[in-house]
Amino acid sequence: MAKVIVVGGGAAGLVAAWRAASLGHRVLLLEANGRLGVKLRISGGGKCNLTHDGPPPALLAAFSKEQGRFLRPSLHAFDSGAVLALLRREGVETYTRDNGRVFPLDRPGSAAAVVAAFETLVRRAGVEVRTGARVTALSGRAPRLEGLLLGEEVVKADAYLLATGGASYPETGTRGEVLGWLKGLGVPVRPWFPALAPIPLQRPRPAWEGVSLRGGELRLGAGAGGRRLEAFAADIVFTRTGISGPAALELSQATERARREGGAWLTYASVPESPEPVDAALQGEQRTNPRLSVASWMGRHLPERLAEALLQEAGLDPDLRLKELPKGGRKAMVAHVTGLALGEPQAVPLARGEVAAGGVALGAVDPRTMALRGWENLRVCGELLDIDGPVGGYNLQAAFSTGFLAGSLG
Ligand SMILES: Cc1cc2nc3c(=O)[nH]c(=O)nc-3n(C[C@H](O)[C@H](O)[C@H](O)COP(=O)(O)OP(=O)(O)OC[C@H]3O[C@@H](n4cnc5c(N)ncnc54)[C@H](O)[C@@H]3O)c2cc1C
Repeated sequence: MAKVIVVGGGAAGLVAAWRAASLGHRVLLLEANGRLGVKLRISGGGKCNLTHDGPPPALLAAFSKEQGRFLRPSLHAFDSGAVLALLRREGVETYTRDNGRVFPLDRPGSAAAVVAAFETLVRRAGVEVRTGARVTALSGRAPRLEGLLLGEEVVKADAYLLATGGASYPETGTRGEVLGWLKGLGVPVRPWFPALAPIPLQRPRPAWEGVSLRGGELRLGAGAGGRRLEAFAADIVFTRTGISGPAALELSQATERARREGGAWLTYASVPESPEPVDAALQGEQRTNPRLSVASWMGRHLPERLAEALLQEAGLDPDLRLKELPKGGRKAMVAHVTGLALGEPQAVPLARGEVAAGGVALGAVDPRTMALRGWENLRVCGELLDIDGPVGGYNLQAAFSTGFLAGSLG
């Protein structure tokens, strides 16, 4: 049986190490942090949305076409049901929310329970775990990796599985440097790129920090008044520096791309209809309900705090009756609910993303084994691959599944 080194003790590396050791290989797991699964522990705000309910085709559909095609063999080999069955055997019960997201049973430290289960699995399978062990360089060239450097120390094996994750939240150990080393060895890569991150705005609204806009749609345009590039129907929440929340995270990658390409402009449509029917409805309301205050009308569509602030900005007294509303004021109110201008974004931070887009190019990897093409003893898995799914448990599932195939050494 082979000696195998797994680099990275996160979601993908833990599964890869457990799987390879279960197949009888001698496995050494190297993790830079002082403990395993640091990013897993903070996932889902500590609650760990560990997968998404559903058969593989449904999960694959959540990824881009290329990523879905690449993930097909791994998701079939180790699907969400297999992950849950494995964890259940270790005492981790889960529940599924209405939106399909699966979590460990809600109790404090539930993400830690998932890590503990994986730690038990790897140790029971006989994996030797070395924490505080940051690999500092790769040695060798195609078709064989010769060894890994940990500072002065050289460690060697028959096979190497790289599971070093992405490049966001570097404080969790993921600095993304391995991608540069692979590039240096001639492996095709796509540079790291921000994804699933909050979006800072050129004109943030710190006074609105904590206010959410619900039930509408965040829209990305190519500059002010430019054509619509993308939209995502979900909530946003104002932060001190910009916006966060599900819609902001989902559009962050496209926003940053548009920004770099010369123009990005964000609006939020609390009422995702075009302004004309909303304007017509408001005019109807002026006739049928003339004594209604403008604040009450705005309050139907926007949080009270925001509605009042916007009315004041538009020079309208919140107590003004609809019958007294001038045409200009009416147009401003309609514009605010059908496309509140959030304006230009600032650079979306790679470091604050729930994932990093980019990574080892999928064409360079055999999706049935995770082996790097042109290499005999090198495999990659997890977020180090050019895979970034949406929020909802997809990214951890992709890490578990690709880790499983990487560890499935013959
Ligand atoms: C705040 C946050 C919340 C998230 N919530 C969710 C969620 O609820 N659901 C979901 O599906 N996804 C979530 N994600 C994404 C998910 O955590 C990642 O996609 C997943 O952890 C990737 O697994 P991985 O094993 O590839 O990488 P990681 O889990 O990041 O593990 C990589 C490991 O490699 C180690 N490493 C890196 N370089 C070296 C080196 N040179 N030498 C030795 N070790 C090294 C790192 O220390 C790290 O422990 C979240 C991410 C963040 C940041």
